Amino acid sequence: MKNNYQQIISSIYSEIVSGENLGEIPNYISELANISDHKFGVAFLDLNNNSFGKGDFQEKFSIQSISKVFSLILVYKNLGEKLWKRVDVEPSGNAFNSLVQLEADNGIPRNPFINAGALVICDIMLEIFENPKNEMLNFIREISQHENINFNTKVASSEEKNGFRNAAMCNYMKSFGNIKNKPEDVLDLYYHICSIEMTCENLSKSCLFLANGGKNPKNNETILSSSKTKRINAIMLTCGFYDESGEFSFRVGLPGKSGVGGGIVALFPYHYCITVWSPKLNLKGNSFRGMKFLEEFTTQTGESIF
Ligand code: GLN
Repeated sequence: MKNNYQQIISSIYSEIVSGENLGEIPNYISELANISDHKFGVAFLDLNNNSFGKGDFQEKFSIQSISKVFSLILVYKNLGEKLWKRVDVEPSGNAFNSLVQLEADNGIPRNPFINAGALVICDIMLEIFENPKNEMLNFIREISQHENINFNTKVASSEEKNGFRNAAMCNYMKSFGNIKNKPEDVLDLYYHICSIEMTCENLSKSCLFLANGGKNPKNNETILSSSKTKRINAIMLTCGFYDESGEFSFRVGLPGKSGVGGGIVALFPYHYCITVWSPKLNLKGNSFRGMKFLEEFTTQTGESIF
């Protein structure tokens, strides 16, 4: 090992935990509003089976938009390249819940990681799977090697109560013919998938195959082809942080994905996966401490895809 990852993680963790904790916990999902803003966890796992965790890395949190990586993979595996007729792969340069580009783009979302794109992915899941909720949980349970992964139905219904924007988006895309099912069914699936709870440790384990050319690091079985894996990683790099994707690339230099629950997963292809969780978000909806941690991490290790 070139770097002593454990030592680097411990030292950055101590520095950040005693430093500023700026930003806000989002309150539009009422069930998430009361989480302690001191929560802070990091879980590192590499392809040589070195693992290291710090702080609240074994506590479950709401993965929210990180789930968009899993639903995209599931649909991409099943549908193949036809998928890109329904959703594009361009960075949006807009907030995750923005509607503005849909009109000019005829109801085709810019990418699968903004809400509009994830709603189209949910619509496709309803078309191709008999029980998309089970399909989603089973897939995540398999890749995380953890049976106890579930929806938090309270979080899902508390988001639905305030979900006027997502409902507007879904109906708007239906008017262009890019949503085939009933908007309420698409939204129900979307909120459930966002409400999945996982730990930093679960997430690093689940995403390690993306750092391994699509192969399960435990038994070398193919989860996703190497070409599709390359494309998922590319979308994570270019679109994983909404209108802060350029900034994440600039500061961290790894493919990654954030969620409004305060989690960020990032991976260094052919090396490792790392997950950070801290609930306070910056103005772009990404974890303040998570961004800071990962910037320090790739700076101090001297390793990034660039
Ligand atoms: N469920 C959230 C929403 O629809 C997910 C957003 C996110 O994590 N960025 O707004």
